[in-house]
Amino acid sequence: MRESELIADICKHNAELAACGGAEVLLAPGDDMALVKLAGLRVLVAADQVIAGRHFAAGTPMDQIARKALARNISDIAAMAGVPACAVATVALPAAMPDHEVRALAEGLRAAALVFQCPVVGGDIGTHAAADGALVVSVSVLAEPGPTGRVVTRAGACVGDLLCVTGTLGDGWRSDGSGRHLSFTPRIAEALALVEALGDRLHAMIDISDGLARDAGHLATASGLAVRIDGAQLPCAAGAGWQAAVGTGEDYELAFACAGQPPSSVAGTPVTVVGRFQEPGGARVSVCIGTEEHDVSALGWEHG
Ligand SMILES: [Mg+2]
Repeated sequence: MRESELIADICKHNAELAACGGAEVLLAPGDDMALVKLAGLRVLVAADQVIAGRHFAAGTPMDQIARKALARNISDIAAMAGVPACAVATVALPAAMPDHEVRALAEGLRAAALVFQCPVVGGDIGTHAAADGALVVSVSVLAEPGPTGRVVTRAGACVGDLLCVTGTLGDGWRSDGSGRHLSFTPRIAEALALVEALGDRLHAMIDISDGLARDAGHLATASGLAVRIDGAQLPCAAGAGWQAAVGTGEDYELAFACAGQPPSSVAGTPVTVVGRFQEPGGARVSVCIGTEEHDVSALGWEHG
């Protein structure tokens, strides 16, 4: 069963629960964050985790693991054009993990909270019964809409909209587990600047965690469209080819749909037009290289 189906199943009684005092769900599951109404205020909420061996390689320093656990969540806040409010963290420790590493992990969470201006206000630390249990750091975040009140979702792209990305792509995750995924800066400032600069011309947005092919595909699917990427326009990171730029994932840049040209940069980060949304039919996501059109709908990495 797919993750999205499982979550939809868990959430199927939400409307009844709201009627008896639970939060009113303003945005159904399937976006980067949920949007709920609490005490009359709109609140964004999401949870995400990093697991040893899957989201970071053995030997990764504890402060980098802690930073990534929080930063992945902050990137989802950026995708909605939100502003971080606070986080809670739970940690599952291998029984054999030495005290100094546990302390380094806690210190890493404290430092990341400062960097991302997102206080960690609580959580839970448990230890696996087995020494070889994987280290798991799970973070839940709360956020509020930015100054304009606008929350940008994955749905809303129109035929003819430009597909644009911030920054460079393709060096998020290297085969040895290194890469920008351990040090990226979530694009909060860029997302807020895009809302300010583009206003109603900004139609849909997502953060690129699974690779542009997959994440642009999420925008296309949520909008009922297809999207064609021009391979020659991709802002490939040094050493990355077009396949890495659309397929590697863990770039944590923003991909967005807008009507008309975007600014050439936002908050000091370059913006590149890389494709165009079109009527559905044929490949959901394709990349044009010269005269060849490659169907990349199945490309990308589901990091979970
Ligand atoms: Mg996301």
